Amino acid sequence: MTLLQVEQLKKVYPDGTVGLKGISFELEAGEFVAVIGPSGAGKSTLLRCLNRMVESSSGTITLQGNTITKVKAKQLRAVRRKMGMIFQGYNLVARSTVLTNVLHGRLGYMNSLKGALGLFNKQDTELAKALLNKVGLSEQMYKRADELSGGQQQRVGIARALAQRPALILADEPIASLDPAASQTVMQTLYEACKADGIACLCNLHQVEVAKKFATRIIGIRAGEKVFDGAPEQLTDEM
Ligand code: ADP
Ligand code: ADP
Repeated sequence: MTLLQVEQLKKVYPDGTVGLKGISFELEAGEFVAVIGPSGAGKSTLLRCLNRMVESSSGTITLQGNTITKVKAKQLRAVRRKMGMIFQGYNLVARSTVLTNVLHGRLGYMNSLKGALGLFNKQDTELAKALLNKVGLSEQMYKRADELSGGQQQRVGIARALAQRPALILADEPIASLDPAASQTVMQTLYEACKADGIACLCNLHQVEVAKKFATRIIGIRAGEKVFDGAPEQLTDEM
């Protein structure tokens, strides 16, 4: 089943910089795809256009059969709930507990602030705990987020994204700040979680070796254009 269709997506920033020159691809439900390319290629721009953090200049984005390129604020919130985001810098609330951070994914930030006053419902809390168990962080549940190592913080980021019950995860350089060992653990955790729940993932990476190890498909972009789209074993050295 086709989950996402991207057609001729272009982005020109207000200062005239071309972020994307017209990118097209489709994503099947549950596919784990690495987006690779040098710095400045347009990887972040692509993910940001997909969740409408950045407005594309032209082209269409269709998610589960609905065109989302033009939807307004209220609908956009519903669309964004289907797309879990994972960031290079984790973007956790540093002074909140690990568990509360995961509940932010479940409830949205404002609602989970209310929840922090003792109003979290049991079902949400149980789900968040189960997700923390899945990413191997049950022991860290009540620690402050900033007490954790980088790799652990990113696994909280994964649990927070999963808590949204997304159809798609957009991960923007999730391991760029991590050492090789933590990178492997984070990618393994992300890969297994997506696979277990049939969640598709678009993961920006600049390490080709990591992309080849984990992704079932690789999209290569360079200077705002798609230059490769295929199986990892078809990727040649010049990418
Ligand atoms: P990354 O390493 O994640 O690609 P950058 O250092 O390129 O991040 O960019 C950091 C921030 O600055 C991002 O929000 C990006 O959108 C913005 N940015 C990048 N290039 C420009 C530019 N030429 N003009 C304005 N903002 C930019
Ligand atoms: P990547 O994620 O592959 O490093 P980006 O999507 O961050 O690439 O950047 C693609 C191009 O768009 C780069 O030339 C970058 O400088 C530019 N860019 C990114 N964000 C902005 C921005 N906010 N304003 C202007 N140019 C930007």
